[in-house]
Amino acid sequence: MKPFTYERPASPAEAAAAAARHPAAKFIAGGTNLLDLMKLQIEAPPHLIDVNGLGLDGIEPMAGGGLRIGALVRNTDLAADARVRRDYALLSRALLAGASGQLRNKATTAGNLLQRTRCPYFYDTNMACNKRQPGSGCAAIGGVSRQLAVIGHSEACIATNPSDMAVALRALDAAVETIAADGATRSIPMADFHRLPGDTPQRETALRPGELITAVTLPAPVGGRQIYRKVRDRASYAFALVSVAAIVQRDGSARVALGGVAPRPWRVEAAEPEVARGAGPAMRAILDGARPTHENAFKVTLAERTLGAVLAEARG
Ligand SMILES: Cc1cc2nc3c(=O)[nH]c(=O)nc-3n(C[C@H](O)[C@H](O)[C@H](O)COP(=O)(O)OP(=O)(O)OC[C@H]3O[C@@H](n4cnc5c(N)ncnc54)[C@H](O)[C@@H]3O)c2cc1C
Ligand code: SF4
Repeated sequence: MKPFTYERPASPAEAAAAAARHPAAKFIAGGTNLLDLMKLQIEAPPHLIDVNGLGLDGIEPMAGGGLRIGALVRNTDLAADARVRRDYALLSRALLAGASGQLRNKATTAGNLLQRTRCPYFYDTNMACNKRQPGSGCAAIGGVSRQLAVIGHSEACIATNPSDMAVALRALDAAVETIAADGATRSIPMADFHRLPGDTPQRETALRPGELITAVTLPAPVGGRQIYRKVRDRASYAFALVSVAAIVQRDGSARVALGGVAPRPWRVEAAEPEVARGAGPAMRAILDGARPTHENAFKVTLAERTLGAVLAEARG
């Protein structure tokens, strides 16, 4: 690990100002992703800004019926919150499908949103990777691509976003609240939060340099049957090959977001009316334009069958 300096600010404004003073600094929350990356020297921030003392660990009701989840709320606490379990069961289920109990005890809401890809070549510093080293190439294209994206990827990068929580947040129409060094705040819809790679796969989100996530907001509950189904190579401690987050209403209308198939949680609102016609038509519309590799073409079929199972469960 490269040497680094460390500070522990006491407020979000102080943390954002510290980031402005140290442009190459990183925020550290639970550290469950960042420290691994630092040990492998994939990330080498000269300065760490510890955000654990910022008082961002509450879950508060919002006017109009939503919830405001502090950026530092641990994944375990969020999944167990009675309001989340009752009104946003999709989120609770997605969180519990991720990582392990020990990791969820440390992992935070903001850190989970910003975790980096699990593309094997990103973690191997001997291999070309445009995301790790812009302009170096992409060893995954033509390489081992079984886990990688089938849609939304580019000639520069075919990695997937690994977060389970983010898939549920996309289906729930959540938004990400931030504060910048100058004190300006903004709310970024989940639909706009994760970027597609294009020719700049190193830029993964809409965050600006030094911008701190302060909270995630959930709109008023929408009810419905909320199901998160994750298909993976083993029953725990594994990232999704395909996951389906669905909210199915009594009248048959549904929201559907997919994990494991794209560089960001994949939701196509215009395709959702097709759910009434069944999993096949729905998935053809949701994955319209998919360009799988010969190794991961199975994900297209798997996504359709997973949605079929989810719809059968939702409709009893
Ligand atoms: C073995 C293993 C298995 C896993 N399995 C799964 C899985 O199945 N599904 C899944 O979804 N996840 C999985 N994870 C990932 C895990 O969920 C993430 O590591 C965790 O959520 C990251 O949260 P953290 O608080 O530890 O983030 P950190 O490691 O502290 O930070 C991650 C990133 O977020 C940035 N950051 C943190 N807080 C803020 C903030 N407030 N504002 C701006 N930037 C911030 C940091 O600078 C860093 O870039 C797994 C991890 C491991 C190690
Ligand atoms: S797919 Fe993306 S993360 Fe993986 S090697 Fe290629 S550029 Fe790197």
